[in-house]
Amino acid sequence: MLTVTNPANGRAIAELAEHAPDAVASAYHAARAAQPAWAAQPLAARLEAIRRFRAELVRDTERLAAILTSEVGKPIRQSRNELTGLLSRIDFFLAESERTLAPRQVFDEGGMREVISHEPLGVVANISAWNYPYFVGANVFVPALITGNAVLYKPSEYATLTGLEIGQLLHISGVPQDVFKVLVGSGSVGAALLAQSVDGVFFTGSYATGAKIAQTVGPRMVKLQLELGGKDPAYVCDDVDVAAAAASLADGAMYNTGQSCCSVERIYVHTKIYDAFVEAFVKEVRGFTVSEPTDEAAYIGPLTRAPQLDVLDRQVADAQARGAKLLIGGHRLPGPGNWFEPTVFCDVDHTMELMREESFGPIIGIQHVAEDAEAVQLMNDTEYGLTAGVYAKDEARARRILAQVHAGSVYWNCCDRVSPRLPWSGVGHSGVGLTLSTYGIETFTRPKAWHLKQA
Ligand code: NAD
Repeated sequence: MLTVTNPANGRAIAELAEHAPDAVASAYHAARAAQPAWAAQPLAARLEAIRRFRAELVRDTERLAAILTSEVGKPIRQSRNELTGLLSRIDFFLAESERTLAPRQVFDEGGMREVISHEPLGVVANISAWNYPYFVGANVFVPALITGNAVLYKPSEYATLTGLEIGQLLHISGVPQDVFKVLVGSGSVGAALLAQSVDGVFFTGSYATGAKIAQTVGPRMVKLQLELGGKDPAYVCDDVDVAAAAASLADGAMYNTGQSCCSVERIYVHTKIYDAFVEAFVKEVRGFTVSEPTDEAAYIGPLTRAPQLDVLDRQVADAQARGAKLLIGGHRLPGPGNWFEPTVFCDVDHTMELMREESFGPIIGIQHVAEDAEAVQLMNDTEYGLTAGVYAKDEARARRILAQVHAGSVYWNCCDRVSPRLPWSGVGHSGVGLTLSTYGIETFTRPKAWHLKQA
């Protein structure tokens, strides 16, 4: 059995039966049998099912947001934001799929034609994370379904109720039961899923699990995408509006209680404005309301996973032992649930875990740098490469810096932002492959090359 726990108070809210390995195998065989008919439907019919799914999300936003908040502890307004933010992603896929999937004639000369078509992969495994279950799930299952695949969806064990709701809404919307199947359970159920002969594996989660999955799936020569963690940096140049940069970066570091793959996790500030920036940043963080996630005023909630509290304790102790200055927070909050104070350190350096290991919580280190070149060197001093930001008045300067930074996404005067129109990808330990953008539709297909010669 899987016990679903409310991270705000530690109370059990549901007991669910995990899928046993033979049930996972049955789901796979049923999906294999059902996929060809789903793929044979006109694209318009599959798009219509996703359109109905969108309408269901709109109709049910309040109830779905409450479920999400109860199992992951996301402040209720942020749960609503995730659901409404999902709509524009779905709209993008609805608008772009037909054009993206149309066969392309790329050559026509002397009776010889060459055409590229897009074939579905077949049955794909979608193993997902808990921090944005609607976003990271839908980045995969929406385009995977549109392109004619069957999807075996393993939501995180920390977001299973949401995963089951997603399944029900898709089925109500016309996606056949066997074409989208939710598999309940922890990592062992994910492993059982990967033991099936799926045609593609789309994983979102930590580097540690991603590396394990790469070892298992690599030799099978099927499509493998891994969207993993980050230690995302931002650099604040000396020509900025300090208050505006501090407000933007405090939100980028602490939104979703710091549990975003693209949370700002390291801040570098030009020495000239360092003191003013640190002061403005701490002022912003003091203004954040830490409260029960069901409270409309809540901005910071509990951590979703209790073990992450130990990671934060360790990073705090290590930073202090190495001479960092604690400006605010640094402790767990008393009482039941997984609560940690919003925490800000300055005078940090790269000997500290805080500046090297993914924190995934409401904690940040701010380091001063003497010049742009030093900032570039420090931003690139990581195994990860998901996003990076530069705050500067001068666009040319920012672009010069960002061109040298190894990251899948780069930001000028913004952060912690994902667009359906742009590819979402990582460098190094942040993963391989991509979702979103028109590439994120094509990625669920196999390009087939047609050589057509007139007799
Ligand atoms: P996790 O790696 O612990 O778990 C992810 C999923 O993998 C879960 O569904 C889990 O049950 C499953 N799993 C665990 N062991 C498995 C195994 N051996 N075989 C198959 N499946 C297995 O990650 P998490 O705690 O759910 O998510 C947090 C991490 O995800 C952070 O590192 C975060 O940065 C990252 N993330 C990345 C993105 C991105 O787009 N790059 C988005 C969201 C989260």
